Amino acid sequence: MKLSNEQIEALQKLLAREQQRIVLLAHTNPDGDAIGSSLAWASLLRSMGHSVTCIVPNKYPYFLDWMPGIDQVVIFRNEPEKAQAAVAAADILFSMDFNAISRLESLSDTIAANVTAKRVLIDHHLSPQEPFDVQFSFPDSSSTAFVVYSLIERMYGTERISAEMAACLYVGMMTDTGNFSFSFLTPALYRAVAVLAEKGIDIPAIHNNVYNAYTADRARLFGYAIDRKMEIIHDGTVALMSLKEHEMRRFNFQQGDSEGFVNYALSIKKIRMSVMFLAHRKFIRVSLRSRGEVDVNRFARRYFEGGGHHNAAGGKSYVSMEETIEHFKRAVEEYAREGHL
Ligand code: 5GP
Ligand code: MN
Repeated sequence: MKLSNEQIEALQKLLAREQQRIVLLAHTNPDGDAIGSSLAWASLLRSMGHSVTCIVPNKYPYFLDWMPGIDQVVIFRNEPEKAQAAVAAADILFSMDFNAISRLESLSDTIAANVTAKRVLIDHHLSPQEPFDVQFSFPDSSSTAFVVYSLIERMYGTERISAEMAACLYVGMMTDTGNFSFSFLTPALYRAVAVLAEKGIDIPAIHNNVYNAYTADRARLFGYAIDRKMEIIHDGTVALMSLKEHEMRRFNFQQGDSEGFVNYALSIKKIRMSVMFLAHRKFIRVSLRSRGEVDVNRFARRYFEGGGHHNAAGGKSYVSMEETIEHFKRAVEEYAREGHL
């Protein structure tokens, strides 16, 4: 990840104006990185005298409820007028941890309506789609939180990172790397973690708050999904799992409960690609994970109108669960025939 002088100067110019009205947007189904990077960046901008609103399209998972400052995040689905007013008045809009406006789903139209605000991207997903006035797009960063950390370090120095900001940044880095086990685990990332540790964050407590905060229903749903709903195809190398709405209701499903399910199938030695289909009110949400060279970003773009990262991507399907699964199986055959699997 290399921050150019031009990029930094362009951002500094935008932030040099006093008391800007700033909105930070994060993606639908915000995760630890979307929330952690937003909260930390919001805190920094507020310390400069700007007025900042963080907006997410829908509720974040309950295991993030403890994060410092999260109670001020505006959830568009719950408070649409408040979110719309903040967006309409914004001088600067930051896109945090996503790079396609479609990832905002129901919030997209509201954003498109503000044509005067400057737009800044802070992200680590592949292939940004919208035009931005300033763009910090680093697909080789393991999280957006690490991009935010690097920006703060370069522009203001790490002295400006408070203990609360450090906890938020750590959550982003920890969750997007699967607790420091996925790709892009660079020396620079560990140096950043060392600085966050110096701020006095309680790493075991953060870990416990995020990973050991599930309900008993969620544990039972997990057992059910693995035992009853996981199918292994393609000579034992591809796993698929699906949950319909009535199954989710049976286990009192809450936003965030399926977190980690799709990753679990990759713990089986031969599995190279794993998919989870989760029924949603209007469509089926598709989550994809892979190991090594198997490119699920490309797979998600091609077959499920989505995208993401090389080894973690997602998309949507607008047909029934049965048809979605058939479509997936045909896609796997095609992808394998072409040598991508
Ligand atoms: P998850 O499976 O955790 O929801 O998402 C995995 C990755 O894929 C994330 O980086 C997320 O941003 C991306 N992703 C998930 N759903 C979509 C989608 O519908 N469109 C795009 N472009 N990316 C997605
Ligand atoms: Mn992220």
